Amino acid sequence: MSQNPDTLCVHPDFTANVKVCRITDSDVWYADVTLHCSSCGAVMQFICPSKGLSPDEPMTNVDGTELRAPFKPYNESLERERVLDDLFGFGVRPPGSAVS
Ligand SMILES: [Zn+2]
Repeated sequence: MSQNPDTLCVHPDFTANVKVCRITDSDVWYADVTLHCSSCGAVMQFICPSKGLSPDEPMTNVDGTELRAPFKPYNESLERERVLDDLFGFGVRPPGSAVS
């Protein structure tokens, strides 16, 4: 479904489709996520500089319309200390700002 250029849509709601894949003989799964506007059907593009597939970080397909996010089961007792360590330096950047 494509957006009708005669009717501007503010994209009020979205529908997400998620496919889960597991790499054979590994403990890594991927969530392949696509989004489109529920009103007009416009396909959404993920803002992600990395293209491809990696077990270490989220990436997108070539045109950015599919997010490929690796994941694994969360084990609270084993991960608590590591997660707290990872929060050091955690911040939120406004869109378009550079990493310093
Ligand atoms: Zn829309």
